[in-house]
Amino acid sequence: MSDKYEILKSVYGYDSFRPAQEDIIDSILSGRDVLAVMPTGAGKSVCFQVPALMLDGITLVISPLISLMADQVSALVQSGVRAAYLNSSLTAGQQYAVLNNIRAGTYKIVYVAPERLETEGFLKTISDIKISMIAVDEAHCISQWGQDFRPSYMNITSFAEQLPYRPVISAFTATATDRVKRDIIDSLKLNDPYSVTTGFDRNNLYFGVIRERRREEILLKMIEDREGKSGIVYCSTRKNVEKISFMLENHGISAAPYHAGMPDADRRKNQEDFIYDRIKVIVATNAFGMGIDKSNVSYVIHYNMPKDMESYYQEAGRAGRDGENADCVILFSGSDYMTNKFLIENGSENEDEDDNAKAVRIKKDMKRLNIMMDYCSGAGCLRSFILRYFGDTAEGYCGNCSYCLDNSDKQDITVESQKILSCIIRMEQRFGASTVIDVLRGSKAKKIYELGFDKLSTYGIMEDTSAETLRYLLSVLQNMGYIVREGEEYPVLKITPKAMAVLKGREIVEANLPSEKKAKRQKLGRSAEKESEEYSIDPQLLSKLKKLRTDIASKESVPAYVVFSDATLRDMCAKLPRTSEQMLGVAGIGAKKMEKYGNIFLDEIKKHIDRYGTGEKATSQQRADNSSPLSVIAAKAKQISPSSEELPITQFADHLIGEAGLNSKTKPVREAVSMWLISKGFLTETTDDKGISCKTTTPLSEEIGIHLVSRMSAAGTFYSSVVYTPKAQQFILDHFTEIAQLGNNM
Ligand code: ADP
Ligand code: ZN
Repeated sequence: MSDKYEILKSVYGYDSFRPAQEDIIDSILSGRDVLAVMPTGAGKSVCFQVPALMLDGITLVISPLISLMADQVSALVQSGVRAAYLNSSLTAGQQYAVLNNIRAGTYKIVYVAPERLETEGFLKTISDIKISMIAVDEAHCISQWGQDFRPSYMNITSFAEQLPYRPVISAFTATATDRVKRDIIDSLKLNDPYSVTTGFDRNNLYFGVIRERRREEILLKMIEDREGKSGIVYCSTRKNVEKISFMLENHGISAAPYHAGMPDADRRKNQEDFIYDRIKVIVATNAFGMGIDKSNVSYVIHYNMPKDMESYYQEAGRAGRDGENADCVILFSGSDYMTNKFLIENGSENEDEDDNAKAVRIKKDMKRLNIMMDYCSGAGCLRSFILRYFGDTAEGYCGNCSYCLDNSDKQDITVESQKILSCIIRMEQRFGASTVIDVLRGSKAKKIYELGFDKLSTYGIMEDTSAETLRYLLSVLQNMGYIVREGEEYPVLKITPKAMAVLKGREIVEANLPSEKKAKRQKLGRSAEKESEEYSIDPQLLSKLKKLRTDIASKESVPAYVVFSDATLRDMCAKLPRTSEQMLGVAGIGAKKMEKYGNIFLDEIKKHIDRYGTGEKATSQQRADNSSPLSVIAAKAKQISPSSEELPITQFADHLIGEAGLNSKTKPVREAVSMWLISKGFLTETTDDKGISCKTTTPLSEEIGIHLVSRMSAAGTFYSSVVYTPKAQQFILDHFTEIAQLGNNM
């Protein structure tokens, strides 16, 4: 029998157990039952899989979710473990084969749904072989007090009792109320179980609440900032799901909707596309997520406030299961409260609810809703709020939520506000943000002189403040109701009566005014910042390894994360292994994975190093490239040929970046190209009814081959999209020097 550390290393590729894991494993090995309450992502599987491999005989894992079994088993098989699952998704022939193999002792771990324990064929097969452990996953399903009661869970005990001798029983759940815990112990007849509840904290998750009116715009921006990453957007209604999914697609984001009102086939397709990374964003109602075990979800954004903390933590918890930093953000609007209240008062799944029961339910649900509102008020550390709600203790400061970050350096900005407000007044409230900023910074632009603004007392009084910070300050003042923007086509800034108190020094303005850029990141989540901290790894290599992973995954028909997690690929980029031994030192690579994929990845790393040198050199080259992908494309424009297909802007930008051998985001390229086309009259910018800007063609566009076409979104609705024919692409390439100049100055 190999020891547990060896197994952890060889099968999973990890060096050490997490705190609770080791104790649980030791208990099981000593023959003692276990009840473990661990939040999602804490690593429950290791707790029962490691002892399963050490005990003789087989382990039955009872799991309620058929959809999860296939993934978990394929992850095990990938790691060289003899495992299988038995459920109704298999054909009769396949089930027969599995049963035969069980009898032949082929497997160490077999996943079954609880209903299976009652079937004749299964009982007969099992009767001759040794079952050393029954691991009950999602054990709260046994309790009527839990959210997902499954009657067949009640039969687990009678199944165990008819075995020749009683196996160890271990039970795992993420739900921890005392009532549910007691039910699990009683119903499974756990014998003096080793009982452990690990903290509810998930420290790789950032929590944020954003209270701003322009939710669609903020959402779009957040998603664009996270280009290339997988995310879930939860909406409260089907209508919102369709609207948001459509809006995202319309802006070139690979998104698809998911809700219970869609035809089954479409819904399943979108879900699969998401799991297999064929689309990046799934926009869904709370119907999505049960039975999804995608580990590389990098953000969960709630477009609407959820109805209670239980739902919220469960949904948000789908982010960052791979241990990577991930963001969980609620875009709060007061109207969500009314929607939820309406649903509570009018919606009940229970048809024969009498008046009394209804009143009780409404009272209970409203209480939970009000707690959710408190969370969204953002008046305290969000993580501490969550932890206290679930019965953990918490410090009150976590340093990784929107409250803690926003309040870490809140400053008095009264003087800055006075300068800005009085400048707007002196400019007679007739100009937009850019001109106001120009005046404050003392711009030497001709327009400013022509208008005589250089004579104003506020000209240049904030010359040391960057335009970006000024723009941020303007939005702070706008959010606080001191200024408004008026006018559709050329919005101008005006001050409100409320601003007078500030100008007269009667009101203090406080805001989080961090160093440049940090402001935006803090408001919109944390990933962007984290990423640059981790900059020491070569992004170009990372993207090559990811591509390799995708190729292997699609060849083997498994999700990419089953091959290697993002964390493993990052660690590879950091460690740059050259030998198998070094490769085994990478987190997440065990012996089997080394055998299967080690050499392919070693080759790819070697190729990259031979070409670009190790770390330093490759990174600095990349840095130079990163400083302006536009310049690189401009320099190579003559060698770049257009794609033979007509492409929307995002894909066209992607094409250019790829052809130029870069690994940058598409955003700067997209924006530069669009701005240039607008400046030349080939495109025009309009805003849709939500105030989000979009580009459309002009009479001139046709001449160079830019067309407006009608496309169907994954939601089945039509939208119009601007496409670039090969001719237009060539035209743009011919003018790329100019485009780069414009973009670099933006
Ligand atoms: P749960 O079932 O509790 O939601 P999982 O078993 O899916 O969690 O584990 C979550 C993630 O943590 C997986 O990617 C898993 O490989 C990883 N993990 C588990 N144990 C360890 C460990 N000791 N060291 C590093 N990563 C681990
Ligand atoms: Zn906090």
